[in-house]
Amino acid sequence: MQVKYNRPVRTCVGCGREKDKNTLLRFVSVQSHLVLDARQNKPGRGAYTCRSKSCIQAALRRNAFARSLHQSVTVDTNSIYSALQKWNNVSNH
Ligand SMILES: [Zn+2]
Repeated sequence: MQVKYNRPVRTCVGCGREKDKNTLLRFVSVQSHLVLDARQNKPGRGAYTCRSKSCIQAALRRNAFARSLHQSVTVDTNSIYSALQKWNNVSNH
């Protein structure tokens, strides 16, 4: 008997599209600072966006991270983007 395997799907808070969780970026709040959870294993509530700066920017404009995380978060976009860059370099092999 085959077990149906449902891939976890999350909604991008930037563009609102639903995608496979593992193709999205996960963000969490650590002491009220938004950080990229590259391995998607940090505890707590996560907010997801596509792997695209435009979705991150859209989410920031709409304050969607704070809304999705149910708390206000401080966002340092430079550190987010540099984490993203680092993670992309690691993943693209
Ligand atoms: Zn998106």
